Amino acid sequence: MIFWRIIRRGRRPRRSAPTGPETERLRAQAKAALPARVRELAAAFGFDFNGRVTIRNNVSNWGSCSSKGNINLNLNLMCLPEDLRDYVILHELCHLRYFNHGPEFHALLESVCPDHRAKHRALREYRLG
Ligand SMILES: [Zn+2]
Repeated sequence: MIFWRIIRRGRRPRRSAPTGPETERLRAQAKAALPARVRELAAAFGFDFNGRVTIRNNVSNWGSCSSKGNINLNLNLMCLPEDLRDYVILHELCHLRYFNHGPEFHALLESVCPDHRAKHRALREYRLG
């Protein structure tokens, strides 16, 4: 059963999670940590990333990317173990090269995150929304 999706193609309206002091604390943490981590991982794995990183608060995905080369990340990533956070970021960086979940995408993801299948399974333990 798939109850989360990393990439979303629009159409469905974006659902926002409730806001509050805890959310704002996470948002501040996410803004301080995630854009820098994206650039760090991009540099470490040879991705040419010059886009923007936007922090979102939605319940439909952990991350997504746009055809313009920008990455959106969910502020609730701050509640995940660091390795799963990195997995989501690497997944989105791979999408900047392959905007689908085809064999080339998976080969690239495998090369930068060899245990991505285990990470994918582990991520399912954490529900959004
Ligand atoms: Zn994806």
